[in-house]
Amino acid sequence: MRDFCGVFGIYSFSRKPELAKLAYFALFALQHRGQECAGIAAADGTDIKLFKKMGLVNQVFNEENLKNLDGHLAIGHVRYSTTGSSVIENAQPVVMDTKFGPIAIAHNGNLVNTDDLKNELKGRGLSFIGTTDSEVIAALISTSKEEVFEQALLASLSKLQGAFSIVIITRDKLFAFRDPQGIRPLCLGKVDDAYVFASETCALDIIGARFLREVGNGEMVVVEKEGLRSKTWSFSEREAMCIFEHIYFARPDSVLHGHNVYQTRVALGKYLASEYPVDADMVIGVPESGVPAAIGFAEESKIPYGEGLIKNRYVGRTFIQPSQEIRELGVRLKLNPIGDALRGKKVVVVDDSIVRGTSSRQIVKILRDAGAREVHFRISSPPIIGSCFYGIDTPTRAELIAANLSIEGIRKYIDADTLGYLSVKSMIRAVGLPEESVCLACFNGNYPVRIPEKLTSLNLLFDKGVMSDVM
Ligand code: AMP
Repeated sequence: MRDFCGVFGIYSFSRKPELAKLAYFALFALQHRGQECAGIAAADGTDIKLFKKMGLVNQVFNEENLKNLDGHLAIGHVRYSTTGSSVIENAQPVVMDTKFGPIAIAHNGNLVNTDDLKNELKGRGLSFIGTTDSEVIAALISTSKEEVFEQALLASLSKLQGAFSIVIITRDKLFAFRDPQGIRPLCLGKVDDAYVFASETCALDIIGARFLREVGNGEMVVVEKEGLRSKTWSFSEREAMCIFEHIYFARPDSVLHGHNVYQTRVALGKYLASEYPVDADMVIGVPESGVPAAIGFAEESKIPYGEGLIKNRYVGRTFIQPSQEIRELGVRLKLNPIGDALRGKKVVVVDDSIVRGTSSRQIVKILRDAGAREVHFRISSPPIIGSCFYGIDTPTRAELIAANLSIEGIRKYIDADTLGYLSVKSMIRAVGLPEESVCLACFNGNYPVRIPEKLTSLNLLFDKGVMSDVM
């Protein structure tokens, strides 16, 4: 099971009123990171209160339930999970009573050793309500032999393998930390006298918080009544920030590792235009994630940029649909062509990625049905050949079209006149970070945290070529 998630944490020294409202607005800004459930846990020095429910942030919370979440520290979470695990039991934050008192945990990322940890904990007589990694982390803390909370926390952290950006509150302290490779993002900001943590800077902006810095890989930051302190709880030379955050997942107005996501996506499009030039009449983007790269493509190629597809904003990301049949319908529900703009034109259509090939195949058809004379597909990232085990929801290799077909095979499958993917080298240049500091596993199969065999075995059954007979 893999999670897409967003996390938030806040601690106010002056006991700022309506803290939960700030958490609410921050989660609202992080909504793109998870649309299935949302929750906030708040502490007032003596107790932790929790409210979580299935639904979008503005469906989950109202004035009344936010008012009940009083306190001077809080954490929040939005979640999107793969089908099957989409139940309230898996909503976060997870609150657990421990020998140290109540704690609440919210987690973004994915552990690769959850099963082993669960088995170990079950052996100690623990049972689990849901399937989230947060529950496992809370159980590790709760059963730790350590006598001091922070020691129990550090001992538990040292058992975790994989990607984790986590915020935790006790009754009176806020902890935030990232895994040793810093795979998922987490930043630190300040609003008035309150310190805040968020998956992305767009959540700081919405509540008027100033960005201070990112939480480092392997760093733990603690906010308590004496102030803020930090320590490196685990040292790894290999930083491995997920590059897919820059390409697709993060909001374009966020800043990751000092780089504005929108500008990065425009640069990806520019490199794409120079690697795969084409003679065409107009460049369009697949809304919304393909639009900045399309703008970059148009700028570099000098082919006019135009709108050719209109997105119904009220339909969620098509991935959320479970079956292939509904997924295909999903693209139609989501995108409608502007016939007059496309008719008779040679069109370059830019998207950020191809996963299963469902959307691109549908889009080519939509554009052709609308009268486009030629359809040239351009992808502002390299072919996705490996599943993500660190918290981006990608299917198994069997379903990843680029793990199973050649580029020409994909072109035929989606029925485009031409197809071009950005190279890994240009992607790295556009993102502007050293290759050694990013995770490229989905593009090159090089996983920075070892993936246990039982997780990869299903994936590896399907090697290049096997699926081509099926498709
Ligand atoms: P597919 O139709 O399976 O090829 O998916 C490709 C589309 O899904 C592209 O338009 C991407 O913007 C979007 N996408 C890429 N990665 C993901 C993801 N992990 N979850 C949801 N959507 C994604």
